Amino acid sequence: MAAANSLEGKVAIVTGGASGIGFASVKAFLAAGALGVTIVDLTSSALSHAVSLLSPSDHSRILTYTGDVSHPSTAAEYVAKTVEKWGRVDVSVQCAGISLPSKNVVDMDVEEFDKTISVNLRGVFLGLQQSLKAMLASPSGGKGCSVVLVSSQLAFDGYPGSAPYSASKAALRGLMTSVAQEVGPQGIRVNAVAPGPIDTPMLADFPSEGHTTKGNIKRAGQPEEVANAILYLSSEMGSYCSGTTLKCDGGWSKWC
Ligand code: NAP
Repeated sequence: MAAANSLEGKVAIVTGGASGIGFASVKAFLAAGALGVTIVDLTSSALSHAVSLLSPSDHSRILTYTGDVSHPSTAAEYVAKTVEKWGRVDVSVQCAGISLPSKNVVDMDVEEFDKTISVNLRGVFLGLQQSLKAMLASPSGGKGCSVVLVSSQLAFDGYPGSAPYSASKAALRGLMTSVAQEVGPQGIRVNAVAPGPIDTPMLADFPSEGHTTKGNIKRAGQPEEVANAILYLSSEMGSYCSGTTLKCDGGWSKWC
């Protein structure tokens, strides 16, 4: 019998999968026996580099798709290509996200707000919507499928200079809890993870004070530690989790 955290025979999509938490999730899914993983990211160079870091024996289980997740047709295309190659989508991890340079709201142009919302919220909405359509259209009608949205601890606590980012990540909670109720009866689980400071290229762009002094664990997390939480929610290990946000933040969250 397969282990509960196995993804044996399952087909997954990971957006933002060429770097950081997304790439760690791709590696975790391959190690868990996934039949296929579609990696979506912004540039073909980042995707080629990511694939070059994987074992050549895993390359046949990888499909790459280059596109901007905020573009209206991107999600429909990466889902269609996944279904074309492997016949279905079982797991969708909506991980692509951006964090623009720190700026207070009073100094901000509306274009900066719109840019963050378009990638972090609209991109996730489109990916969630298209993934669910494919899951519901499968012979199982979606039973056993899982979607994980990558939110942030800043969705709970906010951070000065990061209002649009925090707002976009908080909005994922409303999206996730509503859709979890819409498709739960069909057997599709929709959940989120809320990472704290994780040692990825994105963190390098973030104000660094406090990463080693705040929280309970006094260090930044590793992308693999969040990937473990994503694998938990994606696999049968998390079979009774629906509409929940799993914090993976070393105790950074102050209020919840
Ligand atoms: P990362 O290493 O920068 O990875 C994000 C990936 O998404 C990059 O490859 C990036 O491409 C890609 N991407 C950005 N915009 C895209 C778009 N419009 N379409 C397609 N792909 C796009 O960052 P990460 O830390 O792993 O972040 C992954 C997720 O975790 C994000 O949603 C982030 O908000 C969230 N998160 C991160 C932390 C943290 O401390 N690292 C904490 C909480 C939540 P480019 O490099 O070309 O931009």
